[in-house]
Amino acid sequence: MQILCGIFTTKHLPHTHKILASEIPSIFSSKCYNPQGLTFEHEVRNTEIGHLYEHILLELIADEKRLTTKNIGKIKGVTEWNWIDEPRGTFHIHLTVGEKDKEILKRTIHKANNIMNDIIAPTTSISDLNNPLHFC
Ligand SMILES: [Zn+2]
Repeated sequence: MQILCGIFTTKHLPHTHKILASEIPSIFSSKCYNPQGLTFEHEVRNTEIGHLYEHILLELIADEKRLTTKNIGKIKGVTEWNWIDEPRGTFHIHLTVGEKDKEILKRTIHKANNIMNDIIAPTTSISDLNNPLHFC
């Protein structure tokens, strides 16, 4: 994904926590492996937008799987960026989900994009809803 509006972290998106609490409150219980060892609820107040998107996707997948099974299997993600070699705001998000979860992933991406636009749109004047992997 790529951020085109110059906002690269949630530090400048004050509605992030409130929107997540409303849309997917279980996200605050998700595990987050960050260098500071912070909980995701703490980390989300100042984290890279790509990292936020990764967690939203993972939690929406987990939420949907919990509706039909107690064992949701391994769902994990990693977000990487290299703004020396690539344009600033470019994130590579790698998700590991089960092979049979492709349909869940397709539905999840759409919902995740809507949540991301809710988080980003109030602070920007441009929102490109036609290109779901470009925000702003
Ligand atoms: Zn994390």
